[in-house]
Amino acid sequence: MTAFTTHAIALASARTSLRSVTSVVTDRDGRRTEQRLADGSEEVVATLPPVAVEQQAEQKSADMYSDLTLPQAEPESTRTGSTPTTPPPISAAARSLVDEPTRAWQIISAKQQARPLPLERFTRPPAQAPGTVRFVCISDTHSAEARGRPLPALPDGDVLLHAGDFTQTGRLEEIASFCKWFGSLPHKRKIVIAGNHDLSLHGASYGDTSRRFGHPASTEPAEASAQARAMLSAIPNCEYLCDSGTSVRGVRVWGSPWQPWFHDWAFNLPRGDACRRKWELIPAGTDVVMTHGPALGHGDLCSSGMRAGCLDLLDELQQRIRPAYHVFGHIHEGYGATTDGRTTYVNASTCTLRYRPDHAPLVFDVPARESQAEALAADMEAAELEALAVREFMKLHATPRDEQHGSDGEETAAALAEAAAARAMRRKGGGHELC
Ligand SMILES: [Zn+2]
Repeated sequence: MTAFTTHAIALASARTSLRSVTSVVTDRDGRRTEQRLADGSEEVVATLPPVAVEQQAEQKSADMYSDLTLPQAEPESTRTGSTPTTPPPISAAARSLVDEPTRAWQIISAKQQARPLPLERFTRPPAQAPGTVRFVCISDTHSAEARGRPLPALPDGDVLLHAGDFTQTGRLEEIASFCKWFGSLPHKRKIVIAGNHDLSLHGASYGDTSRRFGHPASTEPAEASAQARAMLSAIPNCEYLCDSGTSVRGVRVWGSPWQPWFHDWAFNLPRGDACRRKWELIPAGTDVVMTHGPALGHGDLCSSGMRAGCLDLLDELQQRIRPAYHVFGHIHEGYGATTDGRTTYVNASTCTLRYRPDHAPLVFDVPARESQAEALAADMEAAELEALAVREFMKLHATPRDEQHGSDGEETAAALAEAAAARAMRRKGGGHELC
């Protein structure tokens, strides 16, 4: 048996179809998750990370893209031929109104724009140019797939993004339904974050919210929360981001579920410093930032006429992170796209204000930033477990020891494949204490 075949077998056993799972078992500390399969066997499918301290999350964000030195994806301004401009910093007068976003935006909008972009550019995009990564964005589907509500057709693309609120209140059966639906979609890469409705994903508040929302008391909240995360982590080719990042053919993506406080739902934080500390985790140079909620002034106008966006998120995006795209949902009626001249803000809410899943997915392309060597690595990354293991396999073959001792190589390959699979699972678990 060649080392590569050993890999293939190890990986085939590591990948388990969601449909064959009959139950998920989790330790009380949420670290180890097993699932019982339909044939009666039991298999470890995910080892969630130990509870990370905030410092580790910060270190992780600082290290996230250390291997990538190419410039960020092109900003909106270069697409339109205008000179790239960074919007002016938010004034002290506006900052003093951090808890009154509607009034704060009145001051801020005198100095900078939130220009609506034509919806057709995102719902009927031009043919994908070679060398680009196509992102298909949805958000706030609110268990439409379980409610028998037909969702709009999902176009092809390299990556499917879901910006949170995939359930109504995060009951485990809703999570399972979402996982089955999302896992069945044909996109090669999928990235999902949680939203304020996905209550069980937020372990720190689920003890309270599970009672308030009348969730079954049969499962202890911490255990249910670990099960919810394990189910998301088991979706094939899907990454669950929670104050963590990934990259797709060199395009850097970061995901964060937090939003300014709104009646103690999941991932709520007071406006001001608490929110800003989450945005400070996002590495400068990220190309596509996913958060559940909007930044102030972009896709955040509620039907009441009030603005719900986060002032600190706007400031961090404009002055430090400067992504090409910010993808979010949360304010269903804010669906559509705007720009400040540098960043394009995409509110991809699938549901309308009345929770009908009628809004079309929004699509954009970002130039891949990869050399030929990176392109090779990126092709491998298309199926995450395979990618990591094959990279280890290639490394193994570069060592003189392997050339001399083929059978040793096979054993090492299997061990490396196992380690790579474990690393992939750890990456999927999110990086923050509260996630
Ligand atoms: Zn929603």
